[in-house]
Amino acid sequence: MKNMNVPDVLIVGGGVIGLTTAYYLARDGVRVTLVDSGEIGRQASWAGAGILTPGDSAFAQTPMDQLRTHSFKLYPQLSAALRDETGLENGYCVCGGIELPETEATRDQLPTEEWHSPGAKVEFMSHWVLRETTNGLITTGSFAAYLPEMAQVRNPWHLRALQAGCERHGVTIMTHWPVRRVSGDGVVGERGRLAAGRVVVAGGAWAGQLLASLGVSLPIRPVRGQMLQVRLNSVPRPIVLKGKRYIVPREDGVTLIGSTEEDAGFDPSNTKEGIGGLLAFAESVNPLLGGLPLEKTWAGLRPGTVDGLPYLGAVPDRPRLYVAAGHFRAGLQLSPGTGLAMAQLLTDRRPFVPLEAFGLGR
Ligand SMILES: Cc1cc2nc3c(=O)[nH]c(=O)nc-3n(C[C@H](O)[C@H](O)[C@H](O)COP(=O)(O)OP(=O)(O)OC[C@H]3O[C@@H](n4cnc5c(N)ncnc54)[C@H](O)[C@@H]3O)c2cc1C
Repeated sequence: MKNMNVPDVLIVGGGVIGLTTAYYLARDGVRVTLVDSGEIGRQASWAGAGILTPGDSAFAQTPMDQLRTHSFKLYPQLSAALRDETGLENGYCVCGGIELPETEATRDQLPTEEWHSPGAKVEFMSHWVLRETTNGLITTGSFAAYLPEMAQVRNPWHLRALQAGCERHGVTIMTHWPVRRVSGDGVVGERGRLAAGRVVVAGGAWAGQLLASLGVSLPIRPVRGQMLQVRLNSVPRPIVLKGKRYIVPREDGVTLIGSTEEDAGFDPSNTKEGIGGLLAFAESVNPLLGGLPLEKTWAGLRPGTVDGLPYLGAVPDRPRLYVAAGHFRAGLQLSPGTGLAMAQLLTDRRPFVPLEAFGLGR
């Protein structure tokens, strides 16, 4: 007989991956406990920009494209469900995106894989259409690819809505509960032991450390990303992308400029060089941007993997222990598909995306 005090699933990590998995499980009636070493949703998922790159699942060839495009399709439904259930907006909107070439010589390579998946709509734009379409945000580019379906989510709002959605469906959330050791039947930390039917490690950049406690190697490393915030007037504007850098205007004029990619261990600090580089990029798009007052700067630690794919699935030879981590630059974007597929796997159904390509033994 089931012990009703023991959750069916215990999730370690309250970032977007852990929360979305918990949400889909709990919606299906599974009893879930989620623990985090700090506050919910304050690490990479909070620090990110919330860019959702477009694509059409009908054109997806690889498992990664399937995960990306299905996630893209799920976002509006998930956002509406969270709004209905919690009354909270997550800032999801289709805002469009404009990708500038990194140099004139690379303009034929637009749009790059970084910012779209197969099947996305693309239009090409010349200099002065660019100014008009961006309400003056781009003043320097001469040519760009326009991705009209590109969307964004306001990630801190999305995390708040997910947490409220989880609570509404009965998820037990425990904060300031650092886990030291994991196994398939529970976790151990300074605050004691928690038993569970199954355990999911969704610890982002820290997932490798958690599994190392078991002698399992999971090569996930932290990749620091710095960001800054300025304010523009609140006319609608698309996202602007160039190489790995971007400008993300929110509806109320809050505008994010990101991001760096640095190997700095678990140090989440800002640096003069990092912020200076982002301002120089912004000036290369519009010289006026560099002179705006800085409202905020911050940094987050992306969970990077060697081949760029997340790890999703069971830990070999460790019964009832699972991992969902390593989403690098795309965890917000991939979270609906990841959460849904993990919920299906954890309830012994066939995941809608085959997870073999994301397996730990790949
Ligand atoms: C600057 C920046 C910009 C980004 N922009 C985008 C973007 O535009 N679009 C996009 O899709 N993605 C973006 N990303 C990537 C995205 O943010 C990540 O891929 C995603 O947030 C990973 O989610 P996660 O839940 O795995 O990790 P996290 O959000 O880091 O969550 C992991 C959680 O595990 C907890 N934890 C760790 N160790 C323990 C322990 N021992 N015990 C208990 N809890 C523990 C942590 O406290 C944390 O809350 C960006 C990231 C950064 C840093």
